[in-house]
Amino acid sequence: MWPTCRYASGTAAGPRGTRGEPTRAAATVRVAGVTTLPDRRLLLVHAHPDDESIGTGSTMAHYAATGAHVTLVTCTLGEEGEIHVPELAGLAAAEADQLGGYRIAELAAACAALGVTDHRFLGGAGRYRDSGMMGLATNEHPRAFWQADLDTAAGYLVEIMREVRPQVLVTYDENGFYGHPDHIQAHRVAMRAVELARAEGFAPAKVYWTAMPISVLEAGLTHFADSADNPFADVTDLSELPFGTPDKDIAARIDATDQHAAKEAAMRAHATQIPDNSWLYSIAGNFGSEFMGVEYFFLAVGEKGPGSGPYGWEDDLFAGLDTTAPRDAATAAGHR
Ligand SMILES: [Zn+2]
Repeated sequence: MWPTCRYASGTAAGPRGTRGEPTRAAATVRVAGVTTLPDRRLLLVHAHPDDESIGTGSTMAHYAATGAHVTLVTCTLGEEGEIHVPELAGLAAAEADQLGGYRIAELAAACAALGVTDHRFLGGAGRYRDSGMMGLATNEHPRAFWQADLDTAAGYLVEIMREVRPQVLVTYDENGFYGHPDHIQAHRVAMRAVELARAEGFAPAKVYWTAMPISVLEAGLTHFADSADNPFADVTDLSELPFGTPDKDIAARIDATDQHAAKEAAMRAHATQIPDNSWLYSIAGNFGSEFMGVEYFFLAVGEKGPGSGPYGWEDDLFAGLDTTAPRDAATAAGHR
């Protein structure tokens, strides 16, 4: 997973936005139906439309195709994104400010490509606004996700967990994978929601953070060194990148190469964000289905299941879990 956004220069900042927010009735509560969902239930918490496809698209498509219930929660509409479709430039935040609404439709098309039918926006569409890159004035917008009251935002997610009872949750690490404030906030909200759900007895048994093994980055840097379209042209050392996890610390490698076309189709649905000639597509052409179809995860909460290879990587996010256990017993195994 390679972020398309420019790398943020900022790093995780301290807690923000403890202002009181109006408590809204939990619009996402649909309590009935838990017992009718499939045995395996996966919840993903992402910051903006397109993050799901770029970061975890193959994994989502894999689990949807194999009968798991996949729930995607997107925290903002991505209003501050760049626009790569010239005729839509007028939708930009500084112009008509209509990009967020447009991206709802892009996300719906992406989810259709991935086979994912359960998608929600945290607190409802438009509840939280894209905060823009770290340090920009957009961070201060009253609805900016960066300003969100943590417990209020986590409360929306808890209600979804209460309904769906996911055994596995996927989100970002504490730096939001690469430092974008909304990704950092998504991490904080997801982890707080896990805490709150644990207190009520229905926390996911496993929480994963998206990750990129150092070995894969090394291969990417080597590959791009001679390329005219090098997204890492300024990078001379891997330590300069805001992401990269030692291979031994990776817990799971999900090989969904058979879903690489679904992932690419989902990314192409986000046409305002990912231009047709993006290096993401050219690298896919060079590396083949593995670039699109293999995704990696760090296990933050729960017990690692059986795996293989030198580091015992799991090949299934549900590895080691008894997914036929009674729903109310799907409680967390505790922080490592
Ligand atoms: Zn994002």
